[in-house]
Amino acid sequence: QIPANVADISSYRADFPALHQQVSGHPLVYLDNGASTQKPQAVIDAVSEFYQHDYSNVHRGIHTLSQRATDQFEAARETVREFINAGSDKEIIFTRGTTDAINLVAHSLVRSSFQAGDEVIVSMMEHHSNIVPWQILEQELGLKLRVIPINEHGEIIYDEFLKLLNPKTKLLAITQLSNALGSLTPLKQMIADAHAAGAKVLVDGAQAVAHTVVDVQALDCDFYAFSGHKLFAPTGVGVLYGKHQLLDAMPPYQGGGEMIKVVSFSGTTYNELPHKYEAGTPNIAGVIGLAAAIKYVNAIGIPAIQDYEHQLLGYATEQLLAIDGLHLIGTAQDKASILSFQIDGIHASDLGTLLDQQGVAIRVGHHCAMPVMEFFGVDATARASLAFYNTRDDIDALVKAINKAVSMLK
Ligand code: PMP
Repeated sequence: QIPANVADISSYRADFPALHQQVSGHPLVYLDNGASTQKPQAVIDAVSEFYQHDYSNVHRGIHTLSQRATDQFEAARETVREFINAGSDKEIIFTRGTTDAINLVAHSLVRSSFQAGDEVIVSMMEHHSNIVPWQILEQELGLKLRVIPINEHGEIIYDEFLKLLNPKTKLLAITQLSNALGSLTPLKQMIADAHAAGAKVLVDGAQAVAHTVVDVQALDCDFYAFSGHKLFAPTGVGVLYGKHQLLDAMPPYQGGGEMIKVVSFSGTTYNELPHKYEAGTPNIAGVIGLAAAIKYVNAIGIPAIQDYEHQLLGYATEQLLAIDGLHLIGTAQDKASILSFQIDGIHASDLGTLLDQQGVAIRVGHHCAMPVMEFFGVDATARASLAFYNTRDDIDALVKAINKAVSMLK
């Protein structure tokens, strides 16, 4: 049982309408939260109310609805600032998601100030969205991409990381929580060591924000990227946090409306932060939904979520390891929310299909992290990923469904 000092917060699952349905004649067991989370009624209502009463474009109208939309949009920026403890709301840029936020840094910071031969460090367990943008610039600018190796548990080999740091290192771009393995990286120490070597640090927080307390000032990262949709908010909205001084010095990423002060054919001047990086009409309802999601999560409390999920992960790990022939891929000491596994003689996609037929939703494949799959010598894993609304009953249903699938496939 969950120890008495850990609150069972799974009762909040009542707030998520999509969780209360049958799939293939079975109650849905949703364990694909690493890909995207379900939305609480509070978020659905916030978006719907905005469209019903306050919808208008932001930052340009003198009329009442435009004022209301702008006020809510800018209030959402403050909600995000507080959530990640940024020093100023000028440091919060709304993007389409993590991928968009990372590309913003790649195209603005890197293109404008890195030179051929400069080095960018990533880890072996990055998501493709924290690999490919750097590879594009490797080809275009002659940057060199260096890769921190991991051990067989899926942990950063710290000495190897330190060896990669050198005067040419300009950027460390590193995940906080691996979506393929569940490993948490020793972020604070890595940031300090990268800074000591003169490099900037971008953190891919896509997986982490829903599971751990994020304090960008305590971390002292230069950039932090995350997506709303993995944090119980709508799709198509995300955040780039960047230190004021850096964002101020960097050139814009995209040109268009909103990001300018004056446009003239004799020369254009750019808007102030954060608007300089928000060209075009933003995802206004998405931003308002993101603020609603953060308020919802804050009411439960990330520390409570973290404790509860830690217990649930421990339980799930024990239960899965009891299945004959099942191997966990990713056994780091410091782990959160993700269980990636393989079963001898069974392909992950067959397993995923048979689980779906029993109402259990997991993800199978390379999880957009092909290099780490290659490292473990597999082309795919099955991945169950947790949110605070999951329960021990969900884990029991997963195990039962796996046992049934195995008996059918073997
Ligand atoms: N990084 C990590 C670690 C992720 O898990 C994901 C999403 N799977 C991303 C980046 C990309 O996020 P998005 O698709 O929302 O841009």
